[in-house]
Amino acid sequence: MAADRRILAIDQGTTSSRAMLFDSAGRATSQAQQELAQHFPADGWVEHDPEDIWRDCLAVIEGALDQGGVGAGDIAAIGITNQRETTVVWDRKTGAAIHRAIVWQDRRGAPLCERLKGEGHEPMVTAKTGLLLDPYFSASKVAWLLENVEGAREKAARGELAFGTVDCFLLWRLTEGRVHATDATNAARTMLYDIRRQVWDEDLLALFGVPQALLPEVLDCDADFGSTAAGMFGTAIPIRGIAGDQQAATVGQACFQPGMMKSTYGTGCFALFNTGTEAVESKNRLLTTIAYRLGGETTYALEGSIFIAGAAVQWLRDGLGILATADASEELAKAADPGQKLYLVPAFTGLGAPYWDADARGAIFGLTRASGPAEITRAALEAVCYQTRDLLEAMRADGASGLESLRVDGGMVANDWLLQTLADILGVAVERPVIAETTALGAAYLAGLREGFFGEGADPLAGIARAWRHGGRFEPQADPGTREERYAGWLDAVSRVRVSG
Ligand code: ADP
Repeated sequence: MAADRRILAIDQGTTSSRAMLFDSAGRATSQAQQELAQHFPADGWVEHDPEDIWRDCLAVIEGALDQGGVGAGDIAAIGITNQRETTVVWDRKTGAAIHRAIVWQDRRGAPLCERLKGEGHEPMVTAKTGLLLDPYFSASKVAWLLENVEGAREKAARGELAFGTVDCFLLWRLTEGRVHATDATNAARTMLYDIRRQVWDEDLLALFGVPQALLPEVLDCDADFGSTAAGMFGTAIPIRGIAGDQQAATVGQACFQPGMMKSTYGTGCFALFNTGTEAVESKNRLLTTIAYRLGGETTYALEGSIFIAGAAVQWLRDGLGILATADASEELAKAADPGQKLYLVPAFTGLGAPYWDADARGAIFGLTRASGPAEITRAALEAVCYQTRDLLEAMRADGASGLESLRVDGGMVANDWLLQTLADILGVAVERPVIAETTALGAAYLAGLREGFFGEGADPLAGIARAWRHGGRFEPQADPGTREERYAGWLDAVSRVRVSG
């Protein structure tokens, strides 16, 4: 294999689409990015235009190739990673979507989910899918489209429509309709897929009124997904990897052993704990999900998400105006009066795992006349750490054990003060990787796996694990007594904002 070949990773996210080229040492050699327009047609509704997604993806692919000075012939394979759960339904003949994509944040499926919960279906749904019966996942979004787009139900019954998450839609477009497939991690987020039997589940399809004819084939994350249409980039490029964004980050962080955990700190925070070949059923309202499926072998994870992480810093900057930039939060937090004990519970849109309290709202406790921007900023950053501790405690209560260190990524981890505080509050070392782009890197790893692109040898995962390097490690410094006292204060603050759940 020529040393100058590249893997192309497409990272189609909620707010932007990105393409990155990686060399065989796992280094990013070029990238291009495009912001994605958001549509809010009604309260609680969030949509993307699939044509924007497609156009942007083509543009960033061309951009990354141009910038890297390489042609399609230099690309060994493509890996795709994507915003999860977001739902597209399109016409198989024309390839045109029948409606804008319904984004994961969109709540329009709430009435259906509430009705099904009321009828007592949640235990069955959770047992099969590992998910909670919530409009966040794709099933109620598909049901809404079939119900509300004129003629959709009839067309779906005749097999004229296709459903897919964003990876699947991009794959269809890249192959000009020759491949209608997704990977096991994306299928696991639809709420139509049995994560243990690894099949589209007939009971779930019946519950949500989704005909089998809509569904893509479900393949391994490192499967042969076909090739780009010959004329599209000059040469057909093989597509060899797909995973949802959080799962791709788990691969990019080389969390391949049970007991390993990664946490991504962007707008929100997503933590995945590798539980190996066992799908652990959560008793603490975490999700059970497929971390990756390689060569037919499935690795599972417990997942917890926090709605507001970096978004609290955005609020300090744009809402309160007490920060000029997100970066400035670090110096300000350091300057806070250590004697003040403020707690900021950022339940701006309710609380996520493990509370799942949609009606809770935020609060700041412990204010005095001496409290100022520095103390509030410190409390906002500490809240990210306390919420991570909440997730870790829930995971431990579900039997997850053996955590030696937490691997972190996302925009917030540039903040050293945050990571030190995280280590102090968790009582666990925190590691930041040298290569920060773990999501795109994970997709690239998946795409290169079968060909041994990254030179991994006989055991490719072990090779990737060896290549993983931390660029900063933060050891817990707080004494256990102080740590537990601070955390108890947080739990008390949370208990005061909870409404239900
Ligand atoms: P997303 O992928 O969700 O858009 P990113 O991973 O790009 O998010 O991270 C951006 C988030 O990180 C923003 O919410 C921003 O406020 C926060 N952030 C960026 N830099 C810092 C920093 N140095 N300290 C604290 N928060 C930061």
